[in-house]
Amino acid sequence: MTRTAIVSAMHEELAAVLALMPDERRVQAAGREFWQGHLHGHEVVAVLSRIGKVAAATTATVLIERFGVQRIVFTGVAGGLAPGVNVGDMVVAEHFLQHDLDVSPLFPRYEAPGYGTARFAADPAWTAALVQAATATLADLPHILTPATRDEFALHAPRLHRGLLISGDRFVATTAESRVLQQALPDALAVEMEGAAFAQVCRDYGVPLAVVRTISDRADDAAHVDFARFLQTVAARYSVATMDRLFRLLC
Ligand code: SAH
Repeated sequence: MTRTAIVSAMHEELAAVLALMPDERRVQAAGREFWQGHLHGHEVVAVLSRIGKVAAATTATVLIERFGVQRIVFTGVAGGLAPGVNVGDMVVAEHFLQHDLDVSPLFPRYEAPGYGTARFAADPAWTAALVQAATATLADLPHILTPATRDEFALHAPRLHRGLLISGDRFVATTAESRVLQQALPDALAVEMEGAAFAQVCRDYGVPLAVVRTISDRADDAAHVDFARFLQTVAARYSVATMDRLFRLLC
């Protein structure tokens, strides 16, 4: 049986996933708590990624080396960058890039030395399954979010986007920085802090990766969203609904 890792960015998302697992047991490694058990009959290991690229790379490596996971799905939140990528939308990554990696002039800007590329790919088949699950989540929104939550965050017709996700060791929270990123990388849909690190480790080991992010903010000056409240009432629900559907689909 294929052992799958479910990696969450936030406690709220992990707690929701653990609630779906009937038999999880805790195993500690590298100062992290890994939860081994089953989800709809599939062997899974659930864990928090920890924030930032280095922490994410350690988590990915431990999942593969110590827990022998054969594929990884990551669920978290991200800041929307491209026009039309709005709060409450979902982004499924097709490619990843580290926006703060710069070894120029020795290598082209963003290129990861030793790989000959700046862009790492998500696994197409595993990602297609995740797209199917995320699409079903959005289609079922009235059952997932209360009307009050949908009104509070103006979530009336959230969309699913597919494409480039960029990662760096910075929480992007100014319009100025968001503009710089959009100009430098016009095809970047969203920015976060872990995806590209997982992608690089997964490429090293040949482990399939799929990543979905719920847009929690527009990576700008506007503090229009109460982050903690959004996580609990929207992101954690999207996340668990999507994992539920993904693992049912695999049956
Ligand atoms: N204030 C939050 C900290 C969140 S850190 C707290 O107290 O918990 C940000 C997390 O959300 C990271 O996992 C990152 O991947 C993601 N993220 C969401 N919006 C982001 C943005 N605008 N820039 C970078 N990362 C973002």
